[in-house]
Amino acid sequence: MAGADFCVVCGATGRALVDGVCADCAAARTRLVSIPARVEVTLCPTCGARRVGQKWERAGASRLLTADDLAPFLEIHPEAGVRRVGWEETATTPTVRQYVAHAEVAFRGLLRTVDLSFSVRIEHRTCPECSRRSGRFFTAILQLRGPEESRITEKAPILRARLDREWTQLWREARADWRQALSWREELPEGWDCYFTDTLAARAVARLAKQRFGARLKESATLFGRKDGRDVYRVTFCLRFPRRDSPPASGPAGVEP
Ligand SMILES: [Zn+2]
Ligand SMILES: [Zn+2]
Repeated sequence: MAGADFCVVCGATGRALVDGVCADCAAARTRLVSIPARVEVTLCPTCGARRVGQKWERAGASRLLTADDLAPFLEIHPEAGVRRVGWEETATTPTVRQYVAHAEVAFRGLLRTVDLSFSVRIEHRTCPECSRRSGRFFTAILQLRGPEESRITEKAPILRARLDREWTQLWREARADWRQALSWREELPEGWDCYFTDTLAARAVARLAKQRFGARLKESATLFGRKDGRDVYRVTFCLRFPRRDSPPASGPAGVEP
């Protein structure tokens, strides 16, 4: 290595240096491991399954939070290795738990402990399997979502609130028989899922949203089972509501492709 053989930060000599900085100083200036201040775990109160993205996993797992629930939230620096994590619960309410994670992290041959405070919100939601078993019946799901790029431009709670307002507005215009076909609604990080007992009603609501809000509509069907010798499908209507709280795109013509 060219230049000084002492750490440019602390001045120590006789240490291995990378870009002139010793491992101790580099570790002190690097976020070796972190975790978001607030995380959310969705679990089914009936079977204990966890919602991971669009899937439900680990049916039969404990209703208590474990390392399996929390470790996936750790963000680890590519040069760091997490050896061990102790999860200490420091406070709890029925829906929010405060934790401190004591992470033992290896970095350039040094072991150090990093303490991370965060809170976990536990959301109880019946999983589709338990819904089905408990007889919550539906034939169609209407998904309310933001535009494809909304992850970057719109924070999840703001997006959900906006979709909820648009839904309320839409619902006022919906025919009474369409409204009766709505069985229940679920809040998700990315929007809302509305469960319908009548596919035609769900389609009518979806088309109304498309017309009134310029929402993009995508329809897909999945095989759900067989009844009386016939395939039974469930239909998903995915509605992507464009942003309405910002001026239209300023590109040439400003027309959506
Ligand atoms: Zn140093
Ligand atoms: Zn369940």
